[in-house]
Amino acid sequence: MMQFNEMGLDPRILKGIQEMGFEQPSPIQEQFIPLFLKKPTDIVGLAQTGTGKTAAFGLPMLQVIDPKNRVPQALIISPTRELCVQIAREISDYAKYLPDISIVPIYGGADIGAQVTALRKGVHIIAATPGRLHDMIRKNKVDLSQVSILVLDEADEMLNMGFQEDVDAILEKTPKTKNTLLFSATMPKEIAAIAKNYMTNPIEIAVGKKGSGAENVEHIYHMVHAKDRYSALKRVMDFVPDIYGIVFCRTRMETNEIASQLIQDGYSAEALHGDLSQAQRDYVMEKFRTKGVQMLIATDVAARGIDVNDLTHIINYNLPDDIENYTHRSGRTGRAGKSGISISIIHMKEQGRIRMIEKGIGKKFLRQPVPTGKVICEKQLMYLIDKLETVTINEEQIEPFLPSVYTKLEALSKEDLIKHFVSLEFNRFIEYYGNTPDLNAPDTHDIRGREGRDGRDGRESRDGRRNSSEGLTQFRLNVGLSQGLIPKDIITFVIDATGSRNVEIGKIELFKSHALVEIDSQAANAFLKNSRGMNFRGSFFDAEVNNPGRDGGDRGYDRSGDRGDRGGRFDRGFRKPEGGGEFKRRDRKKRF
Ligand code: AMP
Repeated sequence: MMQFNEMGLDPRILKGIQEMGFEQPSPIQEQFIPLFLKKPTDIVGLAQTGTGKTAAFGLPMLQVIDPKNRVPQALIISPTRELCVQIAREISDYAKYLPDISIVPIYGGADIGAQVTALRKGVHIIAATPGRLHDMIRKNKVDLSQVSILVLDEADEMLNMGFQEDVDAILEKTPKTKNTLLFSATMPKEIAAIAKNYMTNPIEIAVGKKGSGAENVEHIYHMVHAKDRYSALKRVMDFVPDIYGIVFCRTRMETNEIASQLIQDGYSAEALHGDLSQAQRDYVMEKFRTKGVQMLIATDVAARGIDVNDLTHIINYNLPDDIENYTHRSGRTGRAGKSGISISIIHMKEQGRIRMIEKGIGKKFLRQPVPTGKVICEKQLMYLIDKLETVTINEEQIEPFLPSVYTKLEALSKEDLIKHFVSLEFNRFIEYYGNTPDLNAPDTHDIRGREGRDGRDGRESRDGRRNSSEGLTQFRLNVGLSQGLIPKDIITFVIDATGSRNVEIGKIELFKSHALVEIDSQAANAFLKNSRGMNFRGSFFDAEVNNPGRDGGDRGYDRSGDRGDRGGRFDRGFRKPEGGGEFKRRDRKKRF
């Protein structure tokens, strides 16, 4: 296999991608990069997201650009704003050691003025969505006359989304001499027509999706309110009485929490994560392998080495940050010719991520309702009856006890006997699931109004679950406005300290030298424990539960909805949640 350093890439580019954790080229990179570097040419790449196609075109692109000429020399058109931003960010990462090259994303829904200003300053690469770029062309705000490389990314999606006209108009403004690189996951006749009409003797490169997972894995997701995730997990497990699998969590802390909670609730579960000693890990693994425990609650990293063939399910308690990890997770089941099920428990705002994973792995997810209490009770009952039917009877051993048992049960009819026996095992399910609410979240984004709904079952409320208006604990932080603290920083801090993106945050209040934040009481202990030692612009953070009445003031800020854009300014002093998405760039290391 050809290595990156054998392809003729600039050492500064090699340094950039090495820092990103690229070790081996992916198949499309192996074919594409040396080909294009040898002689720039038109190429049609039949490849999906997740194959490494951005680097396939991005790396040679960086190499052929002339940094001294500050005009757009490369143009990448992609169908969505997310993709456009992602491509721009990805290429900027490759170009970390090529500081003279500038890349700008141009997409709809954002301030056009700022984008025009960015263009005016002089850029080498534009990553754009078709609608906005066409708009800029019409307004004469962009000069494409010196574009030498044009990339049409996800061309089939662009056509599906009705961008044909915009794309045509853009293509017309680019020079005939350019090289066109077209990427598409499929090759419908419209794409073939584009290739024929706009490209000159294109070379075709087709790559299969890398590691798209076992063929016989079914991908299912349940959509629930974020706070119902744990209840949903229990239902999934109760619905499959002989489930044998792994629940994937994002952090060690979450892994521990879920495992302890499950054990407390009577499930057969063990945690596996990097904080355990080697001996503890070996013990847990042996127990799991020999089916002494049904469910392993694990982080991605800890589960990497697990080699157990007959897992029935893997459950994504939280979706992983990248497609690669999803593939790894789901690939733990459906092995050795067996079928497997990969279940993801998501909340309403994560549907887009499911779509991304679908694209990445080239498979469709099936949305299924979280089993209702009634369905679970039926399933458990039939399981019990099956066991009753097939149990091995050791005549010899029970013989001596039978006469006294017969005498004791004499008064019961056959029907009553069955009822008694079944109730003995089954009562706990009836008790637990009688009148439980439907956990399925609606399709719309009507979240706030519905989260506080009543009607939970008794056990869930005894577990400390609550309506969204209650159950928050207020913390006092020793940093405030004078240190430049803003609400978004506090959200970052809470997410990092609790290790959970879904932790509920209530009112945030900022004062000169301190701040108040309300967070989900269930996460309070974790927050207290982990917040110590983090630092914010040189000050060590300290959080303590705020005594009621200590602070007045109504300078409250509503929680900013923008949780995705985290500043990441909190340096972890003493610990680093495993697999957390917050400092993604640091731990990203992907292999092909
Ligand atoms: P793409 O198919 O371009 O969307 O890439 C999918 C992901 O794989 C991106 O996060 C890239 O940073 C990453 N990636 C691309 N090429 C490599 C490589 N050779 N080694 C490791 N990761 C890679």
